[in-house]
Amino acid sequence: MINQHSLKMEEQIMYMHAFQNTTVGMAMVSLDGRVIKCNKAVSTILGYTEEELTNISFSNYTHKEDIQRSYKVINESLEGLRDSYQIEKRFIHKNGEIVWGLLNVTLIRDAEGDPLYFLSQLNDISDKKETEEKLREMGKQFQLITDNSLDKISKHALNGDYTYVSPACVNLLGYTQDELIGVSPLDLCHPDDIAVLEKHLTIVLNQGEFHKLTFRMKLKSGEYRWFESAGKGIIGENGQVTEILTFTRDITHRKSVEERLRLNEKRYKSLFENNPDMCFIVDLQGNYTSINKSFEKITGYTYKEIVQDGINFRFLIEKEDLKKVEKHFAGAVAGNVQRYEASGINKQGRAIILDVVNAPIMINNEVVGVYGIAKDISKQKAAEAALKQAKTQLESFIDNNVDPILIFNKNGKLLKVNEAFETTYGWSREEIIGQDHLHLELIPEKYTEKVKINLDTLKSGAKFKGIKSKRKTRDGDILDVDISGFPTEDEKGELNGWAITLRDVTEAKLAEEVLRNSEKLSVAGQLAAGIAHEIRNPMTAIKGFIQLMNRDKEFSSRLKYFDIILKEISRIELIISELLILAKPQDVRVTQADITSLIEEVAVLLQTQAILNNVTIETEFENNAQLIFCEKNQIKQVCINFIKNAIEAMPKGGLLRIKVSNVNDKGINIQFIDQGFGIPSNLLKKLGEPFYTTKEKGTGLGFMVSKKIIENHGGSLTVQSEENKGTTVEVFLPLQRSSEVDTNTHNLMEN
Ligand code: ADP
Ligand code: MG
Repeated sequence: MINQHSLKMEEQIMYMHAFQNTTVGMAMVSLDGRVIKCNKAVSTILGYTEEELTNISFSNYTHKEDIQRSYKVINESLEGLRDSYQIEKRFIHKNGEIVWGLLNVTLIRDAEGDPLYFLSQLNDISDKKETEEKLREMGKQFQLITDNSLDKISKHALNGDYTYVSPACVNLLGYTQDELIGVSPLDLCHPDDIAVLEKHLTIVLNQGEFHKLTFRMKLKSGEYRWFESAGKGIIGENGQVTEILTFTRDITHRKSVEERLRLNEKRYKSLFENNPDMCFIVDLQGNYTSINKSFEKITGYTYKEIVQDGINFRFLIEKEDLKKVEKHFAGAVAGNVQRYEASGINKQGRAIILDVVNAPIMINNEVVGVYGIAKDISKQKAAEAALKQAKTQLESFIDNNVDPILIFNKNGKLLKVNEAFETTYGWSREEIIGQDHLHLELIPEKYTEKVKINLDTLKSGAKFKGIKSKRKTRDGDILDVDISGFPTEDEKGELNGWAITLRDVTEAKLAEEVLRNSEKLSVAGQLAAGIAHEIRNPMTAIKGFIQLMNRDKEFSSRLKYFDIILKEISRIELIISELLILAKPQDVRVTQADITSLIEEVAVLLQTQAILNNVTIETEFENNAQLIFCEKNQIKQVCINFIKNAIEAMPKGGLLRIKVSNVNDKGINIQFIDQGFGIPSNLLKKLGEPFYTTKEKGTGLGFMVSKKIIENHGGSLTVQSEENKGTTVEVFLPLQRSSEVDTNTHNLMEN
């Protein structure tokens, strides 16, 4: 008994201990809801002491929203509908926090079956509840992501059928979520992609996931588009895949970009491969890593020799150019595109002139090599050199041509003139180049029509030669020219301009005229000489008879007539003899002559012409006789020239004064002072030039010959003139020895 009793005691202590120390809350609760007895755990869970709990109803520390439910199960127990119940409910801890509890309640009845009290067990399940809450929250978020994902997120059964599809399927495929549930992606897949899809289904089942599957799916519209999927198996409790999760996106756009890229790459490759120019890539050391067919063809080396054997570009560059190429290579390596010309050497050792472009190859902002394109310009260079040579030849031909040459472009603008043009016509290149053909001052106005006709000939592609015309110099002189012209062509054979040659024929023409004139003069001279003879003979007879008659008394009353007749006859004789002196080629003899009487003789000769022109000749001599050594006839010629010029300058008459004066015993001065129309100052310098004349029947030789004669006598000549006032021609002749006089005037014309 004792043993039994003590055992019971021990048991009781044990239960007591367990009751007090378990983490499970235990309590006896009265039928009206107050705690009768409870363990520590209940106090810990709810925060109230046992004593406090015995004084308040459970409803005081039950969450408001759970009170209703609590009463419901309590009543059901009391009504005998159930003996025990289990309920999850919220308590309010004494500090106000919510505590989730799992409550197991058993209604204890007495022997009669009447309810005595409730026996409650309380577990704190707040932690569990919190986790659940979090999970639910996560689920919500997951749903949110899934619903709003642009990618289609789906769940599949193990055979692949959709069990869930995110709303993105509407946008991506055109199907509603409901339409897809129970459907297999295999049914939507492009026939060509079924195999790859099946393969990935196996992969996800065996390996748990796949990262990338590219395939086409048919949209509801019937169109196929490219998609990319990743899949993941969801592992169940048994460690096996129970479900498949997939993420799918439309990559049609990316695909087409990729496709284009691939095409581009192909194109570039073909551009490289089939480029008619040499294309190559070298690494940073300058070793070839890639070359094209043209490279092989132009250099004569094979791909193997260049790339596989690892040749360096420096090996193929001519020595003199190496420094330059090295510089450009460094430039390309530094990231800058280079263009230059360089000489390479082909396999046969021959030089090839190359036009090279080098560009850096950049990967992630770093130069990893150099790309090159080189054009073989050897032929072009040779042609250029030949062309340049031809051009220089042509230019020197034009520049050094004795005939003036003008070159025009096809619009008639003057492009070029040569030196002969500049010296003949007086315009410098700078002044005249760029002017229009038809507006050149060179062309006298009345010839413009002719020039137009010539231009039409040239523009039609034909040439002309030796057309006689006249051209004007910058100073206004008119030159006789033979014009030739020919059209010029460009390299395509099209007219691009024309060239004009102006051959100056003025001098040739003048020489002809001089010949004609001198012939005329000499004929006139001969005639005059003949006539003079013919007149002199009858004149001698007449003179003799008049002298005879003079002695006859019969005529004594007419004596004064005889005097006049004799005087006039003497005068005729004088004129005739003067004429004869001039007309006949004379012996050249330097003698001492009296200039005053020489001038008087000449004046007599020209008196008739003077009277005809209403000109009075006055002579003023400082001394009665002025002796100098000279060729008398030549000095006479000089005086005749100047007197004639003076008379011709006074068509309306006037006074011509001839003054002879001494110059400090050094020589004499002869002045011919007229009141004629004078000589414009710009034309004064022309006096003494051969053939310069303003007279219709003039020769333009008088002045020149006179000047020459005076110079040969050691003298000099000056002319002063004022327009419409008159001209003074002043001749100085020195007193000199006969031996110093140069009488050679035969070559006057040639000077
Ligand atoms: P030509 O008398 O045959 O014309 P010249 O050599 O004697 O040739 O004279 C050249 C030109 O010089 C003349 O045509 C004339 O224009 C000009 N000249 C010469 N002397 C005079 C003068 N005294 N007064 C005006 N003009 C003159
Ligand atoms: Mg004259």
